[in-house]
Amino acid sequence: MVQKQIKGLDLDELTLLCKGNNFSAFRARQLYHWMYRHGVSDVKQMDNLPSDMSTCMSNQYQFKTLEIENIQHSTSEDTKKILFKTHDEKFIESVSMIDKNLHTVCISSQVGCNVDCKFCATGLMGFSRNLSCGEIIDQIIEIRGLREEPITNVVYMGMGEPFLNYNEVIKSAKILHDPHGMNLGRNRITISTSGILPKIKQYISEGQPYKLAISLNATTDETRTGIIPINKKWTIEMIMKELAKYPSDKKNRIMLEYVLLKGVNDTMQDAERLASYANTLRCKVNVIPFNDIGNEFSRPDEQTINRFIGVLHKNQRHYQTLVRWSKGVDIDAACGQLSTARHDAP
Ligand code: SF4
Repeated sequence: MVQKQIKGLDLDELTLLCKGNNFSAFRARQLYHWMYRHGVSDVKQMDNLPSDMSTCMSNQYQFKTLEIENIQHSTSEDTKKILFKTHDEKFIESVSMIDKNLHTVCISSQVGCNVDCKFCATGLMGFSRNLSCGEIIDQIIEIRGLREEPITNVVYMGMGEPFLNYNEVIKSAKILHDPHGMNLGRNRITISTSGILPKIKQYISEGQPYKLAISLNATTDETRTGIIPINKKWTIEMIMKELAKYPSDKKNRIMLEYVLLKGVNDTMQDAERLASYANTLRCKVNVIPFNDIGNEFSRPDEQTINRFIGVLHKNQRHYQTLVRWSKGVDIDAACGQLSTARHDAP
């Protein structure tokens, strides 16, 4: 019998599944707890299920979507990069970073990506397929099993453009946030987008409670279109206009991500323009000095980075400036470095 994938079903779907198999609806809540709160994928360990249900579940359904293929450990920080294999032999990567009390997990939402940001290793792979909600959740469950430190933050900043897999991404965030699921606070879940405008609109109009990050990366349309081609269709002005509608509060501010690229977007005029965009929102500006991926881009020198940040600090009124010196650079686990091109099945 071909087993169906069960991981990623929400409580309503599990309730239907239980009823369809002639089990009481309350069994769905038990399954949900086992799968997401406890991260159990072996039905035999779900010890409050009746034996006929256990047999039915293990015969008909698959509870695990990913296998760990490889783990790389950074030598300089407590960062691990995990390579997962999917049931159809695709490869994706996630990163687990521990820093003081924080354990942040960066997860993938697609196999590859077709947005084609010029500075990103994933973009160079091309696009293969969207990940299911179960595959997104399983990255976190598998990492939870690898580390003793509880996961405090999840960022959708790994491989793929989360808003091009909107439904599965939002469904997975809901299970992450649900107190009966993985019980992670809404401010501890960040979803990043390169600027897929219709989905930004949808996200804001639906009142999604998770943090929103925008990969801005340039302050003129000419430069941005050069490095993020979708900017031709959805310009900086269009994105900023939409972001102005975002209901920021003290705990939930938009994040403007800015990968600093030598000679591309690192002038003092860029810093001034970035500051004036940021001052129109209540937001955080996250400057990420570029991490080498062996392409035509490089990181500005330290003096330029410091001058750029100095201009941001000087102009700061409604935003906060953060600098992210990426973790896991030595294992290609830093921002924009994830790629499984060498592992993918032909
Ligand atoms: S930066 Fe994000 S959206 Fe752009 S190509 Fe890379 S994975 Fe895709």
